[in-house]
Amino acid sequence: MSLKLDGKKLSLEIEERLKKDLNSGLNSSNRCPGLAVIRIGDDPASGVYVRNKEKACERVGIKSFLFHLNKNVSNEDVKDLITKLNNDQKIDGILLQLPLPETLNSQQLISNISPIKDVDGLHEENIGKLVKGESALRSCTPAGIINLLLSQGISIEGKRVVVVGRSLLVGKPVSLMILNQNGTVTIAHSKTKNLSQICCEADILIVAAGKPKFIDSSFIKKGAIIIDVGIHRLKNSNNSTYELCGDVKLEDVISKVYAYTPVPGGVGPMTVTMLLVNTIFSWQKNCGIVSTIDDLLP
Ligand code: NAP
Repeated sequence: MSLKLDGKKLSLEIEERLKKDLNSGLNSSNRCPGLAVIRIGDDPASGVYVRNKEKACERVGIKSFLFHLNKNVSNEDVKDLITKLNNDQKIDGILLQLPLPETLNSQQLISNISPIKDVDGLHEENIGKLVKGESALRSCTPAGIINLLLSQGISIEGKRVVVVGRSLLVGKPVSLMILNQNGTVTIAHSKTKNLSQICCEADILIVAAGKPKFIDSSFIKKGAIIIDVGIHRLKNSNNSTYELCGDVKLEDVISKVYAYTPVPGGVGPMTVTMLLVNTIFSWQKNCGIVSTIDDLLP
């Protein structure tokens, strides 16, 4: 039987560890960690993600501050808010919930977040440190994937890893993290030729293409490990209920793989947990507490 890489279970275990670290840090710090969440517009999926993040903060003892802005807000106004939060001593992390409305320049706004408060790990300084293999805040989804693999004793060193997708959010940073773990990485994208043939070479296949049930068993080498990053809400045939699924047609690949991540309950919860890790890591640094969780930042 294939091994389920249970992100939900691992994220709860890491949360327990974070609670302990936070409580012991409170002895030397006079304040709890603070996370500012900036949500712009009314995209319902973003609303769900933000609520999940707020609930997770509450569970471990991080104070979250929500700034919900109108979709017509200007770049300048968002920049001003970010500057204010950069200077706010109560705030250790700033999260700009993506995607932003098209009128806003997300990369430029992320560049305005202080790198030490960039808990999504997307600032160029933090990405640059990842390229150099230096310690820094790491992008949450990729860091969650690496932790999920390592927690199951799955070594990346020497493995052939294929990453489908080259976004700044997932594909590129996860590929760099795999490289830093001594894996041999191939990055595929929409212009890649012979995709299924390339995927079939993978010991570990990481799929972040944003296409529901795109990967079936013809893309999989027997005994491979498959990490499904995609998350989609598909309407069922009755048109009134929804099914959550990933980029992988799990029912088709499950008998062929050694291990897989479910959707939901795989990569998604780990993404939220890595946000908590990054926020507590920043807080420890800001309060002069020696960090004991940097081992979770691959
Ligand atoms: P994205 O920015 O849309 O990037 C998708 C990538 O997939 C692009 O690099 C694209 O190639 C590539 N691609 C698209 N069609 C392809 C094809 N037919 N063959 C090969 N490559 C193809 O998406 P993202 O932000 O990386 O997210 C990917 C998925 O993960 C989405 O479903 C998203 O909702 C999900 N996600 C989940 C989590 C989580 O916590 N579970 C977190 C983040 C994202 P080009 O560059 O050539 O266009």
